[in-house]
Amino acid sequence: MNYPDWNHLAQKIAFGCWAVGILVVLGHLLKLSLTKESKDKYDYINRHEIKLLLVGAVIIVIGFAFYFNSWVTEETGTTLWIIVRLFTTISMGLLAGLIMQNLLKFYYPFYIEKRLKVLRYKPRISPKTGKPMKLLSEEEEDVYLDEGMQAEENLFSMDYDVWKDEESGYVKIEKYAGHLHAVQCPECNYQTFKVVKEEILKTPTENEEGELLKHYLCGYCGYKAKKAVTLKASTKFEGATATV
Ligand SMILES: [Zn+2]
Repeated sequence: MNYPDWNHLAQKIAFGCWAVGILVVLGHLLKLSLTKESKDKYDYINRHEIKLLLVGAVIIVIGFAFYFNSWVTEETGTTLWIIVRLFTTISMGLLAGLIMQNLLKFYYPFYIEKRLKVLRYKPRISPKTGKPMKLLSEEEEDVYLDEGMQAEENLFSMDYDVWKDEESGYVKIEKYAGHLHAVQCPECNYQTFKVVKEEILKTPTENEEGELLKHYLCGYCGYKAKKAVTLKASTKFEGATATV
């Protein structure tokens, strides 16, 4: 293959990469706008947004790598130049990728967090009356959660939100997985503090409360913390250690 041919091909690959990268981002935005339910939107953003944006960014960076290598002339086509170019491209590409990764993993979660909070507490509309429902407090919601759900609220860092339509009595229960959701790290303040392991120190019995130890780890600074939580009496548990 001669140089003009190679240059032409490299440019085509570059444009192809950019198109795919942009499509990944646009596809994500489209999916977001088509997801109407707040809870579905919450789960989708929580699970996929950072990963998808990172994939899109990496594909676009690869496109740039091809683009900057599409100017090969007789002079720059020598072995030495190819090695120099390869080295520069790989290091620049890795640098750009790392910057993207850092932005998305450590700064972007602040923005995601704000949107997730809005989605989680946005009043749900009752399908019975078309009116906004009320979010029940921790005490009020227990009536609507079965034993397994109540156990999960303590264990596995699960959170249940109960929305009630006061007029018709219609109830909507939403489940939020705490271990998929990072909180702010007390050490570095990034939104990268997650439950990595949960341990039952004392199994609750019919009339005695139990104790659960949650292990947190920061994905940014590596800060570790433990938090003991009381387990309500009479909730049944299986197994002794849960790893999430
Ligand atoms: Zn930290």
